[in-house]
Amino acid sequence: MNILALDVGGTAIKSALINHGEILKCDECLSEAKLGGPQLIKNIMKTIDSYHDYDVISISSTGQVDSEKGYIIYANENVPNYTGTKLCNIIEEKYKKPVFLENDVNAAALGEGFYGAGKGEKDFICLTYGTGVGGAIVINRKIYKGFHGVAGEMGHMVTHINGLPCNCGHKGCYEQYASTTALLRKVMAYDNNINDGYLIFSELEKGNNRIKSIVDNWIDEIIYGLINLVHIFNPSCIILGGGIMKQNYIIDSINEKIQDKIMDSFKGIKIVPAQLGNNAGVFGMAAIAEEKMKQ
Ligand SMILES: [Zn+2]
Repeated sequence: MNILALDVGGTAIKSALINHGEILKCDECLSEAKLGGPQLIKNIMKTIDSYHDYDVISISSTGQVDSEKGYIIYANENVPNYTGTKLCNIIEEKYKKPVFLENDVNAAALGEGFYGAGKGEKDFICLTYGTGVGGAIVINRKIYKGFHGVAGEMGHMVTHINGLPCNCGHKGCYEQYASTTALLRKVMAYDNNINDGYLIFSELEKGNNRIKSIVDNWIDEIIYGLINLVHIFNPSCIILGGGIMKQNYIIDSINEKIQDKIMDSFKGIKIVPAQLGNNAGVFGMAAIAEEKMKQ
């Protein structure tokens, strides 16, 4: 079965024709999401038109997604006029193939779980660190969705009572302390010129102790969130994604420090970096299509 997988994001549409976990062809174009839902759909169709010989179309999309009903529950101002779009219906009507839809964070988690860092794991958690912190919970190789279908908002676990205000409207959320943005905010308060992840870690390598202590504090913030997740879900593995997690220093520190902070019966948890990078989403959509077509 040839699966045409699309990863529709705020900046780009990544696409790949995948068969048994192997990419036969792939491409990337601008999504122009800022121009709104209708333009985004045009670009999705342009992408699909450039492929042939696929049996099913599997799309991950930015925004809150109802994967059962195949529509966009909510998209913020980054994609105007996208909320409510019945994406599966629109694409099915035009291309006469089965169409599946999932949100981008869940798709990336399943991609890592089936083909990447979590290959072979049944129960694991994926967190992505960037502007905020996104998450997905995988139980017995399926995304746990919860009552409203929106479970996995680990970025909004409250880790600080009466802490910093968060854009979710509440205070003290994990992502205000553990995201890449939070690290940058703290580093830039110390030195305004150190304004990206690469510069932070090159300073650290040069032996800048002030930067090291800011990074180490930030790593502790990450760890305290992970400790809660370990004790609640007892996963075999936690996969950490986002560009910053390519730094071995972070993953090594977390693995070293976390073992002393969790109960004995939870020991042996593996904390691993995501492996598939930008391809996690399309691999995840391939995995979803394979599972759905079996049913
Ligand atoms: Zn929040």
